[in-house]
Amino acid sequence: MLSKFDYFKPQTLEEAITYLKSNPGTKILAGGTDIMILLRRNIELVDHILDIKGIPELKNVEYKPGEGLFIGATVTVNEVAESKIIREKYEALGQAADTVASFQLRNRATLVGNITNASPGADLSSPLLVYNAKVHIIGPEGERIVDIDKFFTGVKKTVLQKDEIVTGVSLPDVEQGDMSTYNKQARIKGHDLGIAGVSVRITANKEVLIAMSAVAPTPIRLTKLEKLISSKSLTPETAEWLSKEVANHINPISDVRSSAEYRLHVSGVLAKKGLLQLIEKGVN
Ligand SMILES: Cc1cc2nc3c(=O)[nH]c(=O)nc-3n(C[C@H](O)[C@H](O)[C@H](O)COP(=O)(O)OP(=O)(O)OC[C@H]3O[C@@H](n4cnc5c(N)ncnc54)[C@H](O)[C@@H]3O)c2cc1C
Repeated sequence: MLSKFDYFKPQTLEEAITYLKSNPGTKILAGGTDIMILLRRNIELVDHILDIKGIPELKNVEYKPGEGLFIGATVTVNEVAESKIIREKYEALGQAADTVASFQLRNRATLVGNITNASPGADLSSPLLVYNAKVHIIGPEGERIVDIDKFFTGVKKTVLQKDEIVTGVSLPDVEQGDMSTYNKQARIKGHDLGIAGVSVRITANKEVLIAMSAVAPTPIRLTKLEKLISSKSLTPETAEWLSKEVANHINPISDVRSSAEYRLHVSGVLAKKGLLQLIEKGVN
């Protein structure tokens, strides 16, 4: 049974911030697909819930050529998956959105909730990492912007203060020829967090960026591995080399979803698959 709490659904960000400030310990509710489970099981006990879904400026997906993409905090995972501009310019993000849970859950779940929940296995984290996304945060002290690779601090932990709200995530614009892909291995074809999730991006000037989820306490960019690839040609032989090399750059744990050994193996397989998909698409 749900414990008792006050519920507030503001219409403006100002109202939301005032409420957070005057009610310490308030939990933010977006889609509720993570938090409602914790509340129902009494794992999370709260006195105040702040529902941000009524705030109009948080609902937008906006793309400005030359500037990039902004995804507001209440944009759902299905809206990400169905966005034409995301499918065209930020492919890995659209593909990762397709893999989150089930269609019904994706209708509620938000992209921002996925990263603020800070599960190491969050599917939308690695595409945001390869696109150098920025997290926009507002609180009583004003606004701040945090690079996504500095946002996660541990399992289910972020840099967010208790009285702060993420207003959205921005991704820099990409040049013609930029491409990316997301591959996930899960236990079942259905709603389940991944055993590993791997985003590979090749920029217009042939820089390779790789990020993974579920292989460390937080989602990670594999920057040392990226440096090693930069001295290689983008060929199937390099993809084969990558499949083995990945294991030297991650240190996964064993848990209910997988042994550490299998994670080491499958992360390499997914990285190879991603690079091959992009090579086949046409890297000159
Ligand atoms: C059956 C099932 C299957 C799932 N499968 C997957 C899967 O395959 N892949 C995957 O990645 N995830 C999966 N999930 C997890 C979940 O659906 C996602 O993490 C979802 O994107 C969370 O978004 P939400 O809007 O529902 O977050 P909520 O539950 O509303 O919030 C999650 C957390 O983030 C905080 N929060 C939310 N918005 C903000 C904000 N704007 N500012 C500050 N804090 C905020 C909340 O206070 C809470 O702590 C699954 C969940 C379920 C129940």
